Amino acid sequence: MLVVTKFGGSSLSSATQFAKVKNIVLSDPKRKIVVCSALGKRDKEDTKITDLLYILHAHLKYSVPYKDIWDMIYTRFLGVKEELGIDYEIKNDLDELQKELNKNIPQDYLVSRGEYLTSKLMAAYLGYSWVDAKDLLKYNYDGTLDEELTQKNVKLAVSKNNQIVVPGFYGAYPNGSVRLLSRGGSDVTGSILANCINASLYENWTDVSGILAADPRLVKEPRAIDYITYAELRELSYMGASVLHEETVFPVQQLNIPINLKNTNRPEDIGTFIQNDCPASKTIVTGIAGKKDFLSFNIQKDHMSNEVGFLRKGLSIFERYGVSIEHTPTGIDSFSVVVAASQVEKVQYELVTDLKKELGANVNVEGDLALVAVVGRGMAKRSGVCAKIFETLGKKSINVKLLAQGPSELNIIIGISSKDYEETVSSLYDSLIRNN
Ligand code: ADP
Ligand code: ASP
Ligand code: MG
Repeated sequence: MLVVTKFGGSSLSSATQFAKVKNIVLSDPKRKIVVCSALGKRDKEDTKITDLLYILHAHLKYSVPYKDIWDMIYTRFLGVKEELGIDYEIKNDLDELQKELNKNIPQDYLVSRGEYLTSKLMAAYLGYSWVDAKDLLKYNYDGTLDEELTQKNVKLAVSKNNQIVVPGFYGAYPNGSVRLLSRGGSDVTGSILANCINASLYENWTDVSGILAADPRLVKEPRAIDYITYAELRELSYMGASVLHEETVFPVQQLNIPINLKNTNRPEDIGTFIQNDCPASKTIVTGIAGKKDFLSFNIQKDHMSNEVGFLRKGLSIFERYGVSIEHTPTGIDSFSVVVAASQVEKVQYELVTDLKKELGANVNVEGDLALVAVVGRGMAKRSGVCAKIFETLGKKSINVKLLAQGPSELNIIIGISSKDYEETVSSLYDSLIRNN
């Protein structure tokens, strides 16, 4: 019965938060691996250490004076050490790092120092061994994880120590240089480590008492979800529920290891369990998430339906430009291709020219599109959810531009104008979840 426990930056923002983490970790010896993010925000106006490190890197790269930023980083780490009287000379590590600061310092390496220093501080505070993530998580040069080597390393580290603390967010390439994961990646580190030791549970501690049925910044007091399947979570996190990194589920899902998302500030709350088999949900819809900044390429040509291969030809033009596609709603003589605006930032005009020329079609691009996902394992083979969505949005005079349902009937995606985004999420939450 081994548990991997990950604490996010919000759980590690100050000496007070460190003390809460210590109480939690020491209350259960099954917590074999503790994963730490970097010191996070102490309040809304504060800046995460990770963000400060990105800013520091930009200053170095463009030879802008960086003393103020460095001092902020230095003071925050030293402050936590001194306030708690932790027996670790973090000053030495900070001084070493300061000597390495130069124009060519690799960004991945510099940014990873946030989790490196935070986890060393936490290991000393807990009295646990510290193991560097670069000696555990091994990546190939193409960015894929060397699963075999990683598992071997992790098993060895765990067998040699009672409990270990590991920095999240990075691993190493074969030559030993740091490979940073994408933002929020410490969630993924924890998940990979849980897979490696076939943990009975992966605990993910943050600042909310579970996955909320909608983004708390858009909906007033959304309810916490008690059980959610990996597949539902994947849909929600892909569509913008930023509470867990969207790749977190894969390593644990392979071995059916449940994730328990919990609140460091309210450890007594049960939180959310994410697993394959969940009890029937209380509401048909489990959660709602969404994102702005999509574009729709609307492609129309008379008699298109008679041209076999027309859709393939159109999509292959997007492929040529390396554009990843979200949705392709089709009509008889028209289809649309919905993509994230960031995907076509630099190639939109070339794409339109090629589509017109090679397909002989009319093409117009509609911007300012937002997508909202209504997700629920209870929706499959149930009627009435779409009716309720249309009724709710109709009452608010919100125009639905796109509607898509995945074959598993786990999600319904609604495309609306960006200006209607906030109202769509909050009114759908009220009608599909709050009042049910
Ligand atoms: P950590 O520092 O622990 O990694 P994050 O900031 O990455 O924490 O994630 C937690 C935050 O995610 C919450 O404080 C909340 O504002 C935000 N969030 C967005 N969508 C949701 C959701 N559906 N459920 C819970 N939290 C959400
Ligand atoms: N500290 C990193 C970030 O802010 C990684 C993480 O928190 O998971 O993105
Ligand atoms: Mg996070």
